Amino acid sequence: MILFNQCSITDLEEKYMLDALHHKQCGDGSYTKKVYQLYEEKLGIKNMLLTTSCSTALDMTAILADIKEGDEVILPSYTFVSTANAFVLRGAKPVFCEIDPRTMNIDADKIEALITDRTKAIYPVHYAGVICDMDKIIALAKRYHLTVIEDAAQAVGSVYQGKYPAGTIGDMGCFSYHETKNYTMGEGGALIVKDPELLKKAEIIREKGTDRSKFIRGEIDKYSWQTAGSSYLPSDILAALLLAQTERFDEIMEKRMHVWNAYHEAFADLEADGKLIRPYIPSYSTHNAHLYYFFVKNAATRNEMLDYLKQNGIGAVFHYIPLHTSPMGERLGYHKGDLPLTEEYAARLIRLPLHANLTDGEIEYIIDKVKAVLDHDQTV
Ligand SMILES: *Cc1c(COP(=O)(O)O)cnc(C)c1O
Repeated sequence: MILFNQCSITDLEEKYMLDALHHKQCGDGSYTKKVYQLYEEKLGIKNMLLTTSCSTALDMTAILADIKEGDEVILPSYTFVSTANAFVLRGAKPVFCEIDPRTMNIDADKIEALITDRTKAIYPVHYAGVICDMDKIIALAKRYHLTVIEDAAQAVGSVYQGKYPAGTIGDMGCFSYHETKNYTMGEGGALIVKDPELLKKAEIIREKGTDRSKFIRGEIDKYSWQTAGSSYLPSDILAALLLAQTERFDEIMEKRMHVWNAYHEAFADLEADGKLIRPYIPSYSTHNAHLYYFFVKNAATRNEMLDYLKQNGIGAVFHYIPLHTSPMGERLGYHKGDLPLTEEYAARLIRLPLHANLTDGEIEYIIDKVKAVLDHDQTV
């Protein structure tokens, strides 16, 4: 079976984790600090806090943005559940916006019509590591005094307009280091907070609502309860794993990019023949080879292809069930048919295996099998 996803683990990861195991095991030890240093040196990302997952980083953003019961929050329906859970847990209502089917990202031109007196925040999701049209989103947010929180779970290493790293463009940004993402801590994430005052608040919320971080830095003698918070910081053992992955940042990115480019080149002819639609990368964003997807003509062809690939030992998958059509979405008052583009393109999408351990032989085999299905098929 060719796995859909597999982490790239070397002796370096083992060495750092073992070392951490024998040193400080709770959070915010030397490995966590080294991760922050390397992110600043390598990617120019500051004001970062490691968290136990991207989901918990998103939870923190809803607290920091003071999202409350009765508030409305705009997001795409085509996303992972955690984007919505963050503020639904606080009693706010998700307002789902259509996607631009070229990128599967939120359609920035359709946001303004959804803004009301109750709108508090916008959560753009950078699908497949391709950054949303942030200039338009930020201009709207300024005009209507909204907070912009990037769900950059998939976008670690992507860059906007040649200089702004994903996660640093809005007021806050969240990364995922889940096993299925480009760089892994097993389970883990990060929160980036632009405003230094809000970052201080984030530090307190992350440490059970205490100023323990100040205490550890020697700035105060005793730490105490400052506000409502929880434990959002990961063990330094996991930070050790992430440090190794970050030192191997370019190597992992290059390997993933090699697979992505091989698929993309191989499918150019099929796209020209109208048999599939390849991903589109807008000029304002780079991508990080997080995932390779394409669209076939409809859900029936999609299912046929997934079955055929599975029979041939290829772990291809699809995602997401649009949130507005899920059982929870329906309980919130949404229905099938509310977002026709989201529904249509979500049903036509296929994701191929993409990880740093794929061999050229495996890549070629996958391409051949995709072509074999589409050769029998009509046009998109
Ligand atoms: C993976 C993912 C998450 C959740 O990340 P975890 O680290 O598993 O909590 C959130 N949003 C998006 C878009 C994701 O892809």
